Amino acid sequence: MKWVYRLLGLAVVLAAAGAAAVYFIPTVQDRIVASQIEAAFKIQRDDLVSSDALRVAICGSGSPMPDPNRRPACNVVMAAGHIFVVDAGPGSWSNASGWRLPMDKVEAVLLTHFHSDHIGDLGEVNLQSWVAARPAPLLVYGGPGVERVVNGFNEAFAMDASHRIAHHGADYLKPELGVMQPRVIADAAGGVLADGDEVVVFDKDGIKITAFAVDHHPILPAYGYRFDYKGRSVVFTGDTVKDENIARFSKGADVLISEAMLMQVVEKMQAVATQYGRDRFAKILHDIRDYHIAPGDAADLAAEAGVRHLVFSHVIPPLPQWLGARMFTRDTDRPGLDVHLGFDGMLITLQADGGAATFDDLSP
Ligand SMILES: [Zn+2]
Ligand SMILES: [Zn+2]
Repeated sequence: MKWVYRLLGLAVVLAAAGAAAVYFIPTVQDRIVASQIEAAFKIQRDDLVSSDALRVAICGSGSPMPDPNRRPACNVVMAAGHIFVVDAGPGSWSNASGWRLPMDKVEAVLLTHFHSDHIGDLGEVNLQSWVAARPAPLLVYGGPGVERVVNGFNEAFAMDASHRIAHHGADYLKPELGVMQPRVIADAAGGVLADGDEVVVFDKDGIKITAFAVDHHPILPAYGYRFDYKGRSVVFTGDTVKDENIARFSKGADVLISEAMLMQVVEKMQAVATQYGRDRFAKILHDIRDYHIAPGDAADLAAEAGVRHLVFSHVIPPLPQWLGARMFTRDTDRPGLDVHLGFDGMLITLQADGGAATFDDLSP
């Protein structure tokens, strides 16, 4: 047995020597960094945008509640060489930036509504796609009021834009391409969409994007979006309660990406907050329960619409993925319905030629 101990001892000495080399010798550190840089630059995921599929990558699966593992609402939708962004919650774009997507292909952001957890990174999406040589101004779709949001972000980033143009040159960063353009989604009279209304906001290269109303009362406007591409489809609920209009616009969809709140857990949080004298937080925990949807109700809507896969995102409250996957799917068994708990980095692929949806992890 002695040789076993000798071997173990040798392994420990070698590991310690290696660690010491990394810790003390600058050339070793430089070589490690150089190889990491090379590995990072080799990765370029143009294939996710150019190959014939409808894809969704979740860049934010969280909510306004702080969570080290989930950024607030953000989704990247890719098909036929186009990239669309559905919501841009604060901090979420750093997730998408790490995936090495061709960011010059980002052509529009679709906002479900104007709560901060859905719009905070709008300036980042614009700035980073501008730097990546997006060939046209970024369009930002949303209900009436989107002009205010977009103009405000443009104004807030105006100094930043002028600094970058001064530094890198107007040939490199064309000034007119750095200013977002709002696109209002409204009914014929210019009002907020109501149940049954639909507006096709994009219809090109086989991609059709339809906006419809959801119920996030008293928040108006609040919209969902349906993407159709070559017979495949994905629907986003945005923030909502249980609303038949979602089932109506999700008919036969491959994937429904729904917000979800564990009502009983948030109720418990409210009770504990009250117990500890956190009355202001307790009020928020009380109020938010009347404008979100329980996982079971989302499953009912999905089953009613004949949806194949239900994915929870914008999950409240934050939970570790393994525990959340158990708790959010507890009451969601419905015939023919496959249910997933979304996470930052989840990649959903629907091949244009049919076949089962695949679920992967884009995280580095
Ligand atoms: Zn939200
Ligand atoms: Zn909201």
